[in-house]
Amino acid sequence: MVYKVDCLNILSKELICTKPNEYLSKHTTIGIGGKCRLLVLPHTQKEICKTIDFCRLNDVLYTKTGNGSNLVVADDGFDGVVIKLGKNFSHVVVQGASLFAQAGASGKKVFNVAKQHGLGGVEFLATLPATVGGAVCSNAGCFGKSMQDVVQKVWATDGMTMKEFCKQDIAFGYRDSIFKHNDFVITWVQFDLQKTDVCRIEKRWREILAYKKATQPLDKKSAGCVFKKCNGVSAGYYIDKLGLKGFCVGDAQISCKHAGFVVNNGGATSKQVIQLMGIIRQRCKQTFGITLEPEVVFLGSTDDFRRLSYTHGF
Ligand SMILES: Cc1cc2nc3c(=O)[nH]c(=O)nc-3n(C[C@H](O)[C@H](O)[C@H](O)COP(=O)(O)OP(=O)(O)OC[C@H]3O[C@@H](n4cnc5c(N)ncnc54)[C@H](O)[C@@H]3O)c2cc1C
Repeated sequence: MVYKVDCLNILSKELICTKPNEYLSKHTTIGIGGKCRLLVLPHTQKEICKTIDFCRLNDVLYTKTGNGSNLVVADDGFDGVVIKLGKNFSHVVVQGASLFAQAGASGKKVFNVAKQHGLGGVEFLATLPATVGGAVCSNAGCFGKSMQDVVQKVWATDGMTMKEFCKQDIAFGYRDSIFKHNDFVITWVQFDLQKTDVCRIEKRWREILAYKKATQPLDKKSAGCVFKKCNGVSAGYYIDKLGLKGFCVGDAQISCKHAGFVVNNGGATSKQVIQLMGIIRQRCKQTFGITLEPEVVFLGSTDDFRRLSYTHGF
């Protein structure tokens, strides 16, 4: 897409922290992704609204990200503005048993503040490499708990309006919420937690972390499980049954430790990840008659990426 000359320079000058032509591989945990036009790291809600309004007015594509731990970004990048909510937008405050977090706060930070106040329920969140906004969007979870169990309200903006979403409005589903299907950027999240003994909170967190360390390739670059559960069974179970652990396309490899994870052994590309996912999907269909659905979110606006995705049936 050809943008008006200097259009994004104007936006950049009005914001505190931006990075033009930034490689998104630096902002995804799998370490893959070409450049975006402009990366915006907002400090305030006003900056988020200003960015969205500017993009709308100038016909510039925009998207929202957190820690990039569930993303596979195209090698050709994203031809637009990426609004990344992270450390600059990560205040956390507690009122009684309610904890309010800005969307860029990490799961670990939310857990730490909750623990200081003797509030339990977010131990699972501390073991995910997630921001609060990303975790709400994906209804992330593990060990029998997910965001829908602890989130009470969400505030989000589409630039023009700031809307309060109660639990029903968020339409939480398995690794899904309304925010996967709309343009709203989550800004604040309210958690309702339980008064809990601090030792119990600490113990629960340690148990989950120990299990994750023992069963997941946390020392390697990845985007977590690439496919959702199917018929209540983890995709890793089926992939393991096919004997595909360790199988590679280039530097993209099905983890030897957990067959649901695709890891980047150094120079993996999005094309290789998608090819590998295509092979897994085809083999699962042939052998078990099941259709695996991606859990990772694809981000990219180039024709190349789209063509490749379609070729492999996503
Ligand atoms: C080692 C590893 C282990 C993992 N284990 C688990 C697990 O056990 N359970 C699990 O569920 N997931 C797991 N994941 C996946 C991932 O951590 C979660 O999906 C997480 O919630 C993504 O959060 P994020 O901030 O990284 O979001 P991103 O990856 O940046 O974005 C994910 C989605 O959220 C949207 N989004 C991000 N921020 C906002 C916002 N402010 N407003 C609106 N939309 C937004 C994005 O547009 C995108 O659609 C794992 C990943 C890794 C790398």
